[in-house]
Amino acid sequence: MNKERLKNGLEKMGIAADETALDRFEAFHAILDEYNARMDLTAVLDEDERVDRHDLDSAAPLTHGLLMPGAKVIDVGTGAGFPGMPLLILRPDLQMTFLDALNKRILFLEDALARLGLKAETLHARAEDAAKMAAHREQYDAAVSRAVANAATLEELTLPFVQKGGVAIAWKGPGVAEEMTAARRAAFLLGGTVRGTVDAPIPGRDDWAHVLLLTDKTGTTPKAYPRKAGTPNRKPLGQ
Ligand code: SAM
Repeated sequence: MNKERLKNGLEKMGIAADETALDRFEAFHAILDEYNARMDLTAVLDEDERVDRHDLDSAAPLTHGLLMPGAKVIDVGTGAGFPGMPLLILRPDLQMTFLDALNKRILFLEDALARLGLKAETLHARAEDAAKMAAHREQYDAAVSRAVANAATLEELTLPFVQKGGVAIAWKGPGVAEEMTAARRAAFLLGGTVRGTVDAPIPGRDDWAHVLLLTDKTGTTPKAYPRKAGTPNRKPLGQ
């Protein structure tokens, strides 16, 4: 792994990374390669692309000071651990829960966490089901989610996990403007209020960037939400 690229990129984003964090990134990349050689875990990117498009991209909320010390965070649809793993490596104080509907990804993450010496919770479930469980419903300071669904669907998959005063953070592409009206309506139905977007540029990569869509949890999510598994995708709220 190109540690200098990662370190410089993080510095430009205003994020400090000590040697332990950089070593953990390196080890995590090696574990990803090991698993990718035998299963289809995540798109294989070259090393520099992985630093930019996975590690630096995942770290964006830290630039904006969105996660308080010790915050309880759930990564909804974490896949191979993005954005949750880079966030946890950079901020081991976070109480992170990795959630995914695919068990092979959860098993990979459990192995990676043990080998990196990091503590976190893992949850093999659909977001729609997990958000009905008392242990997870409205229990988190933040829900993060990248590349999982359109904005309105994401509101329904993330906001039920967030307690009043917390925030849902979704990584979105340049087309987010077209999704905003439905997202605002969906958030309203779910006890949230869309705050807006903040830019999440990746240093040196003008060609490729996300924005973070921020939704504040301003009320309580009605019991009817989330609807049963699959419905938020098939019939997004607010459309
Ligand atoms: N967030 C990761 C990233 O940015 O690399 C993974 C993105 S991958 C395209 C989408 C992931 O979301 C998959 O691992 C899938 O299993 C998971 N997923 C999709 N819908 C879900 C749901 N309703 N509940 C839990 N996981 C879900």
